[in-house]
Amino acid sequence: MYAIIGTWKMSFTGVSQAHEQLKQGGCAGDAVQHAVMCVEDEPSYTSVGYGGLPDHDGHVMTDAAYMDGNTLRFGAVMSAENIRNPICAARALCGRETNCLLAGRGAEQFAMQIGLPMRDMRTSEAMKQWREALQQENRKMDAYNEHDTVCVLALDENGSLIAGTSTSGLFMKEPGRVGDSPIVGSGFYADIRYGAAAATGLGEDIMRVCLSYEIVSLMRDGLSAQKACETAVQALSERKIQLGEDAGSISVIALSPKGEYGAATTLPVFPFTAGNDQGVAIYAARPVENGMEVKISSEAALADEP
Ligand code: ASP
Repeated sequence: MYAIIGTWKMSFTGVSQAHEQLKQGGCAGDAVQHAVMCVEDEPSYTSVGYGGLPDHDGHVMTDAAYMDGNTLRFGAVMSAENIRNPICAARALCGRETNCLLAGRGAEQFAMQIGLPMRDMRTSEAMKQWREALQQENRKMDAYNEHDTVCVLALDENGSLIAGTSTSGLFMKEPGRVGDSPIVGSGFYADIRYGAAAATGLGEDIMRVCLSYEIVSLMRDGLSAQKACETAVQALSERKIQLGEDAGSISVIALSPKGEYGAATTLPVFPFTAGNDQGVAIYAARPVENGMEVKISSEAALADEP
């Protein structure tokens, strides 16, 4: 049995190709890396990898992580500049007993040392948007638009369960700002005994409750991947409302060791892609009165969604 799930519509091409790899007996690690790299390499996706929108100083700073649910080892890079595929650096760090999470210059040096391709991640389109945003600085900037993380979870025929994430974080973020995506337990978690989970949305909120670990813990307590996603997202938004805040914009995915998917969101609609031995499709998760509606959708129906 094999299964794969990725956040947002933007993961569809990579997840479909990775799904094919899994079908041919490929391993979950390669599938996750491939699916994430496809998004990192596509300049039209402005929140991940090449073409990602810059921080306030005009630098594209990336965060990425990779976790092996069979060993509980993870690797991650944060605030890394010019690493063409941050997911490859994160994967290469996974397995290390120490120094598995590298920031900034250290991450870049590591990537160069192991021969990963480096590139200027700024596209002219991204820099144009940055210059326009700087002009508008006198009016209140909403730094929390223009973000989204690609998160991919995969299970292969050999029972290997892997989680991967990659993002350029928030547009116009303060230099040095890091979100949840490279933080184990917050942006991602995987434990082959219970399942894997990953999150996208405002990292500052996701980190407040270690959201991915919470979802995997709920799976440990017997909840399905779907119920665990719904319960954790609802608890976070209810707690925020109790604290006098808005519910926030959070979306999550999960995958059980049996290959069952889950997804939940506080947004009106959260597109994701998923595949197993029945095929691969784009789905939409939508909050409804008594929980979450999760249905196969079409690219056309989600034309305005990331
Ligand atoms: N979680 C990411 C961050 O806070 C952004 C996102 O997924 O929308 O950096």
